[in-house]
Amino acid sequence: MQMQKLLLIMAHPDDAEFCAGGLMTLWRQAGHQIKILCLTNGNAGHQSLDPQTLAQHRQAEAQKAADLLGAELEIWPQDDGRLTPSIELREDLIAAIRRYKPDLVITHRTADYHPDHRATGQLVKDSIYLLQVPAIARTQPPLSYLPTVLLAYDGFTDPRPMRMDWIVDTEQVQEQVLDLLACHASQVFEWLPSLNNKNTPPFDRAWLKSFYQPRPTGIAAKYRDGNAAFGSLRYAEAFEVSDYAARLAEHHRNFRNN
Ligand SMILES: [Zn+2]
Repeated sequence: MQMQKLLLIMAHPDDAEFCAGGLMTLWRQAGHQIKILCLTNGNAGHQSLDPQTLAQHRQAEAQKAADLLGAELEIWPQDDGRLTPSIELREDLIAAIRRYKPDLVITHRTADYHPDHRATGQLVKDSIYLLQVPAIARTQPPLSYLPTVLLAYDGFTDPRPMRMDWIVDTEQVQEQVLDLLACHASQVFEWLPSLNNKNTPPFDRAWLKSFYQPRPTGIAAKYRDGNAAFGSLRYAEAFEVSDYAARLAEHHRNFRNN
């Protein structure tokens, strides 16, 4: 398979690592390219740091994680917690997708709990068809193809639970995902532990592991329930293939064998 390009369009710095840290690590190991695009600067995610300082910290943390992964990073200046799917941002996003020319895009579902995640998912959804329309976002020429759009796993059930269309076994890369997440120190060692007063210090790598691993083990357990052939699956990431873009190609499912 030729080198492929994966573009993560997420709301906050750290969403890409939480949702697809395993896939990103495996994808890089297989020699493919990654870009992480965060539509907000993450400046609301802390209990004490002021927004400007926090945005600077999060830029540096996200850059550290991107460097570790070997990915490109771009963070937009929108305030955390205030993202809306505006026409202006839609046109900026169309231009950004056209510039990168991804084979795969990963984003949030619009059923997500966080308004920024929903706005991001909506912006991607609203952009895809228009990628091919030359009259829109004229700063970049239109694409002559549509990428595949994958929606990252969430557990929300209203209006419907997500489909696990593509399951990726991430057991081999759990430690590398923790390395990526640990780069986001203001989040995983400060802000996230502060959200639940049942959490007790020290907030260190062992705490991060206990916070993160229920996600991949929960996805694996859920998938095993309906798929006996996956009885040995222990850690996984799951994605829904959106029906408003291209189908997921077989060479994407089997990216590690090439
Ligand atoms: Zn987020």
